Amino acid sequence: MLFDFLKQNNECRHSSIPIDVDEAYCPDCGALVKNKWFIVRCSCCNIKRTSHTRYGEIIPDTKFCPNCGETDFYIQEVDKINFTDVNYAILKKVVINQSKSAASQVWIEKEENLIKERKLLGIMK
Ligand SMILES: [Zn+2]
Ligand SMILES: [Zn+2]
Repeated sequence: MLFDFLKQNNECRHSSIPIDVDEAYCPDCGALVKNKWFIVRCSCCNIKRTSHTRYGEIIPDTKFCPNCGETDFYIQEVDKINFTDVNYAILKKVVINQSKSAASQVWIEKEENLIKERKLLGIMK
């Protein structure tokens, strides 16, 4: 358990992004992150089942549906979360866009070339 926690801690969990926004740029890693809500429902009786995430996958808390005893379930994505669903809903912070550091790297390279060119010009003078 502790090892799992440490392993997960290595990558950004975008915990600075509030859960009441649709999407936002993570202040910790720069990625554009969307808050997505999911509810696990029983395939048989359609009841909402309490669930949790494990290794990024959403799974129900119990193996069998407490209402009908079925094991099959499906995951429903919900656009907007309401108060009655809060106990069932799972929030996933999905990265839409990685940070813009790749773009800034290009910019830095260009600037370095500019400095080189200036140095060359200086030699030529
Ligand atoms: Zn982040
Ligand atoms: Zn059921």
